[in-house]
Amino acid sequence: TTSPGTQFVQAALSRAAATTPAHDVPSMSCVVPCRNEASNLDQLLTRLTDVLCACTRQWEIIIVDDGSTDATLTTLLPWTQFPGIRVVQLSRNFGKEAALTAGLQASGGDLVVMMDADLQHEPELLPDMLGRWRDGADMVYAIRAHRDDESALKRIGTRLFYAMVNAADRIDVPADAGDFRLMNRKVVEAILALPERNRFMKGLYAWVGFKAVALAYTPAPRANGHSHFSLWLLVKLSLDGLTAFTTWPLRAVSLMGFVLAGLSFLYGGYLTGAYLLFGHAVSGWTTIVVSLMLFSGIQMMSMGVVGEYVGRIFEEVKGRPLYVVKRELGQGLKTTGHP
Ligand code: UDP
Ligand code: MG
Repeated sequence: TTSPGTQFVQAALSRAAATTPAHDVPSMSCVVPCRNEASNLDQLLTRLTDVLCACTRQWEIIIVDDGSTDATLTTLLPWTQFPGIRVVQLSRNFGKEAALTAGLQASGGDLVVMMDADLQHEPELLPDMLGRWRDGADMVYAIRAHRDDESALKRIGTRLFYAMVNAADRIDVPADAGDFRLMNRKVVEAILALPERNRFMKGLYAWVGFKAVALAYTPAPRANGHSHFSLWLLVKLSLDGLTAFTTWPLRAVSLMGFVLAGLSFLYGGYLTGAYLLFGHAVSGWTTIVVSLMLFSGIQMMSMGVVGEYVGRIFEEVKGRPLYVVKRELGQGLKTTGHP
């Protein structure tokens, strides 16, 4: 083949042939969800194959093509010649969380690393992650050393979100941790065993437990292209996370009902007293209109909160699969029958 990407593949292959793995590490799978990342993949795979070859004898890279509409697949084609590089193409865009699950399901390594395709998660951090694993961690998650690259609005929103998610539950979802993490097989199987459709991954990692260790890193700027997550999408994802891991909004609604009913009762008593004792008839128009608006607003809001949960129940009971695979290319640990 003479496609433009072939030169990168040839170069990477010959470097791989000249490398001896530094340590005796079990097999590793690297899961990379991709949506329209054609411009990043040659660089990513060049760096990632170098790092993996130096780490272990048995590795695979599972690229999940999450309904890309650009040249992602054609860029990947020459790379599938590289033993260990495998492409799972989904039938359409299912979202990053579903793509990650597809990658985990396809993975066969004793250790699994997940990372973004845009080189914000630098492959060169892998040896450090392996070090933490060797020191006894079941899961090593990279946390952003700072969020200086993000807007003030996003930072405030993020902080608010984690405060709300962590408000009442036993589990603790660490803020500043993303999907860049290394997990051993036990953790992966535990996550895959969770039956829910609403896969708020950051919550699932925390829910399964195990010994998780943080590793600070400074995210690189996105190599090419732009982020897929607009503010609006982040708000939607936050609602997914909140409804998947908390029920306190429901309790807050009932509490608000009690408080307001109590206050109305007292106010009613006061008005009656004022009328009987002093003969003040209430001049009521403003009071009536304001309280009518207030209470119908609160009622609609409460119905909205309940509705958010009902909607998620509907999603869950339909029991549809999380993703549909269109095509698989290349050979990974599972497909070649390595241990
Ligand atoms: N991604 C995906 N499906 C989507 C959106 C994003 O697989 O529907 C992938 C994307 O290709 C990238 C990773 O998820 O590898 C993170 O996306 P992005 O860099 O846009 O997010 P950010 O870094 O801004 O959080
Ligand atoms: Mg990114």
